[in-house]
Amino acid sequence: MAPTSLSCKECKAEYPLGASYFCEACFGPLEVTYETAGSDAAEIKRKIQAGSAGIWRYADFLPFTGRPKDPLEPGLTPLVRADRLAERLGIGELWVKNDAANPTH
Ligand SMILES: [Zn+2]
Repeated sequence: MAPTSLSCKECKAEYPLGASYFCEACFGPLEVTYETAGSDAAEIKRKIQAGSAGIWRYADFLPFTGRPKDPLEPGLTPLVRADRLAERLGIGELWVKNDAANPTH
């Protein structure tokens, strides 16, 4: 399952893979289009689960070829239980995503 192009979610215009985030025609957001023919969902899931603990486990799905020379390992930041905040807000349970654990804080 390889990324093939970028596609506008609004007008469906196609763009080559690259660092583009919006459609030049309608300013709609671009999403990655993948070649899915012949893909084995169970094998894809196994490969992701066996990958690193960060975003690079999804490298096959990112819209570029080649991995950075010295990549940071962002992603999969921890959830932290916040009992005192939950009590103050009057809710039973609250978890906070600690994105400060990313390499860029
Ligand atoms: Zn568009």
